[in-house]
Amino acid sequence: MANLPDPIQNAASAFDGLPGVGPRAALRYAYFLVTQPREVVERFARSLQSLAEKIRTCDTCGQWSDRSPCNICSDPTRDSSILCVVATSPDIRSVEETGAFKGRYHVLGGTIDPIEGRTPDTLTIRQLLSRITHHPDVKEIILALDTDIPGDVTCLYIRKQLTSIPVKVSRLARGLPTGAALEYADAHTLGDALKNRKES
Ligand SMILES: [Zn+2]
Repeated sequence: MANLPDPIQNAASAFDGLPGVGPRAALRYAYFLVTQPREVVERFARSLQSLAEKIRTCDTCGQWSDRSPCNICSDPTRDSSILCVVATSPDIRSVEETGAFKGRYHVLGGTIDPIEGRTPDTLTIRQLLSRITHHPDVKEIILALDTDIPGDVTCLYIRKQLTSIPVKVSRLARGLPTGAALEYADAHTLGDALKNRKES
């Protein structure tokens, strides 16, 4: 990107590497913003700044939020006896869209995959166990993890950790195709998988 004014080059570099964005698309985005009214570009910049400044993780469930406890953890109408365990924050949105779940969540921060450096210690499994131990009103755990190998390994690991704790553990029914990423499952399929979850 030689001979480009620094501001255009810097903006293109910022876009380059976003999911699905390569150098050409990044440059197209930078050029597009140059053609926009100044207030549009400033609003765009402010929204990114607020992402960096305000988004944190909820101390209770681990989901991205602008407050802690987050809106779900602080909602007294949510059922605190049932915890849905998901890998990442976007998975919560997928489950919420089904409208089939009114309990609370726990975000693991990923699934176990030693090859990628994701060991149980790097996830919030310890916090999950402590949460269940300190809140005896938690009666059921739903493992809502992707149906791929890391998802299976993580479910097995958590079940093992929970054997001595009197809590019902279920996993989403196999309505989800093997290898399915929860984030991209449609609300209807995911809603059915929740309703037909299997106790283990
Ligand atoms: Zn929370």
